[in-house]
Amino acid sequence: MYKDSEGNKRSEEGKKEPHQHQSSNRTDRPEDQWKFRAPYKIHDDKGGENFEAKWKGKCHCGAVQYELSREKPLASKYCHCTTCQRMHGAPFQWAAIFHKTDINFVRGHHDLGWYDPTAKSTTHHLPCKVQCAYCRTPIMDEGRNMILLFPTLIEGINTPEGRKAFEVQSHMFYQQRVVDVKDGKPKYKGLAGESNLVDEETGEEIEGSNPKERKEGEEK
Ligand SMILES: [Zn+2]
Ligand SMILES: [Zn+2]
Repeated sequence: MYKDSEGNKRSEEGKKEPHQHQSSNRTDRPEDQWKFRAPYKIHDDKGGENFEAKWKGKCHCGAVQYELSREKPLASKYCHCTTCQRMHGAPFQWAAIFHKTDINFVRGHHDLGWYDPTAKSTTHHLPCKVQCAYCRTPIMDEGRNMILLFPTLIEGINTPEGRKAFEVQSHMFYQQRVVDVKDGKPKYKGLAGESNLVDEETGEEIEGSNPKERKEGEEK
């Protein structure tokens, strides 16, 4: 036995566990209980739940593996905001929205790391980014009510079925883009459905095209 940095007694066996770089290992305090709730709750047969895996995903090193019980996301979008550009090291982010209960991380909260981009802290404070703690592959964004998964981790994503299920409906924060995408999908200046559209040919913002304002106008 030895004592870890937080004074917990641990077995030598425990030393072999992957190190949690970004968050405390502790699970005994009330403030740690989120680790056992969705989306980190492990769905197994013991609870008598029927979690039927429709899709499977994993990080680059394979430490983080998950299953999805939903055939297709609630929505799928490309986000061109500068935070996504920087945090993904990519021109834009591809995010598929799911309920927190749609995902089963095979090892629960283990091997995951968290980052709160608002406070720039490595704590589990929502909304936050979730990565593999070992290979640092971005896994998802965890919002207050939903999760936004990155579909390129999913097995079979580049099959006709995968492409169809995860096809995007729109682009958001298109004004911040580093590349132009001419795919005929709606391109919002800011949040999808809540900001003006951008014309993909001219790159100009289309005045009065905000669906939310239009709807409110009709209701008046
Ligand atoms: Zn990994
Ligand atoms: Zn973004």
